[in-house]
Amino acid sequence: MRPFVLVRDAAVIVAIILLIGIAREWHEWWWILVMLGIYLFILAMGALFIRLNFFIQSRNHGARNAQQIALSFDDGPASFTSEILEVLKKEAVPAAFFSIGKHAEAAPDMVKRWHDEGHIIGNHSYEHGFGFDWKNRNKMAEEISRTNAYLKQIIGRAPRLFRPPFGVTNPELSHAVNLTQMQTVGWSLRSFDTSSRNADALLKKLLKKVRGGDIILLHDNVAYTASILTAFIQGCREKGYTFVRLDKLLGVDAYA
Ligand SMILES: [Zn+2]
Repeated sequence: MRPFVLVRDAAVIVAIILLIGIAREWHEWWWILVMLGIYLFILAMGALFIRLNFFIQSRNHGARNAQQIALSFDDGPASFTSEILEVLKKEAVPAAFFSIGKHAEAAPDMVKRWHDEGHIIGNHSYEHGFGFDWKNRNKMAEEISRTNAYLKQIIGRAPRLFRPPFGVTNPELSHAVNLTQMQTVGWSLRSFDTSSRNADALLKKLLKKVRGGDIILLHDNVAYTASILTAFIQGCREKGYTFVRLDKLLGVDAYA
């Protein structure tokens, strides 16, 4: 059972007790507001942090006792995808690219290149709009299916791995993921590369934080990410880590 279901059911019980208590004047009415605030806070944390597996059971890391790690790049094909692919080829590192459907449609050659060069492709919604998380389950499922259908046209196989836009999850997305039979994938090391303002600091932070089993979240639309990639890969290897492809790290099938 998902933590969300437990929290929701507990909230209903607490609300009933509070209402009875108010009717019998055991306590003041504003306790309802306090408890509602706590409930909404827990829901917000559950929505924002995919690693909590609050609404959806995601795969967020591999075995912690092995020295294996996996790279994942979101939002492409984008401006630095080609540069990143060059580095990955040179370093012989297989990666996962979570593609936004409309970006894939704009750059089918890059999608083909991902596939041909031994990387796996995941689904990262079609629009990746800020409104995604406010959509109902059918609209979300539509975005996922549309992206899958297009990727299948290019590479011949439909992705099974889905990474929610912004890593935000909610009950509707949980239904959409079930409807489309996708496996949700999160991360265990978030680079925050999209908001980074200093390549050296980004590199140091990543090398300091990395540990066995990590799924590392990067973006192929960030210049810094492309510029530190070689140093990051070499730095991880010096620390004894081996890069494996995400599907191998998790022991799952990347495609349906
Ligand atoms: Zn994204």
